[in-house]
Amino acid sequence: MRALRLPGWKSEPELVEVAEPTAGPGQVVVRIGGAGACHSDLHLMHDFEAGAVPWNPPFTLGHENAGWVHDLGAGVTGLEVGQPVAVYGAWGCGTCDRCRVGVDPYCENPAAAPVPGGGGGLGLDGGMAEYELVPDARHIVPLPEGLDPVQAAPLTDAGLTPYHAIRRSWHKLAPGSTAVVIGVGGLGHVGVQILKATTAARVIAVDTRPEALKLAEECGADLTLRSGEGTAQEIRAATPGGRGADVVLDFVGADATLRLGAAAARTLGDLTIVGIAGGTLPVSFFSVPYEVSIQTTYWGSRPELIEVLDLGARGLVRPKTTTFPLDRAVDAYRRLQDGSVEGRAVIVP
Ligand code: NAD
Ligand code: ZN
Ligand code: ZN
Repeated sequence: MRALRLPGWKSEPELVEVAEPTAGPGQVVVRIGGAGACHSDLHLMHDFEAGAVPWNPPFTLGHENAGWVHDLGAGVTGLEVGQPVAVYGAWGCGTCDRCRVGVDPYCENPAAAPVPGGGGGLGLDGGMAEYELVPDARHIVPLPEGLDPVQAAPLTDAGLTPYHAIRRSWHKLAPGSTAVVIGVGGLGHVGVQILKATTAARVIAVDTRPEALKLAEECGADLTLRSGEGTAQEIRAATPGGRGADVVLDFVGADATLRLGAAAARTLGDLTIVGIAGGTLPVSFFSVPYEVSIQTTYWGSRPELIEVLDLGARGLVRPKTTTFPLDRAVDAYRRLQDGSVEGRAVIVP
């Protein structure tokens, strides 16, 4: 079969011929129906080097996958060949306290995981291929009625990651509150939809690209702002009494966006860093409003994926997708790099 592989750090992916996987005991092979192209893959190609994460290339890219069950290993029950499924992408050890409750991204026994801190497309072979080997059937989540694999694939990361970041701040997103989304790309545009579908907050979206702000409007943002010097003041001016945003979600993570997030936050608010552009934010008694909590989040939990798929199946959250065949995957990443993908690029092998 064909697969898009990352051959090494600081290199471009290559479409090559590899052996088709077969399912060993307890495993599942998924025929890929959709594999999303995430900006994290661009960080893998261009920014990371040995030691940055606890695994190394080569591996097949694609950590945002859905399709149909193709091959069931011995002992797997409760799934049928041909059934549409999503792949929960973070593959922890399965038995530590975190994995037991479905929080595999924060597995506390990485030595016993198939890949420490990663999954398919992040250290092990992912879904930018005709088939993906999933090493444990517990990572397979059946698709609810009404959701096809092309729509479901982005929900497993571009949906799940913002969902987790938003869900942990739900209690701060009461009526009258304001949420700010910085970066309205693959994750951010779904983030706007999730905020609108699950909270009563007023949503302000910020981006550097006019097309991204147009997409934010389509997704239900109440106000869109071009990112620049005066953006924090504009956000404050748009909140009652100029008090600032209750929750800021930074889907970029650069110096400038972190500074913006801190300047726009309300006392007792949340500033959640999801983007991995590698920026830093000085934190001192005087640099952030009182009792603002600052956190990073990585992906989301298995129960949260089930919730996001439900939102998708009911049409409350609909990622905007542009599809590419596998032999144009490199082109999809090129477009993601130059900012000309609207929503999420999904590879359909
Ligand atoms: P994307 O390229 O689809 O979207 C990024 C958006 O940010 C674009 O619309 C771009 O115009 C905008 N942007 C860039 N610089 C900006 C600035 N200074 N101000 C405002 N907007 C700006 O990327 P994506 O796939 O949505 O990923 C976003 C980030 O999240 C990436 O860094 C990615 O690696 C990271 N990510 C993190 C997790 C996690 O679990 N923490 C999961 C997936 C992706
Ligand atoms: Zn990702
Ligand atoms: Zn674990």
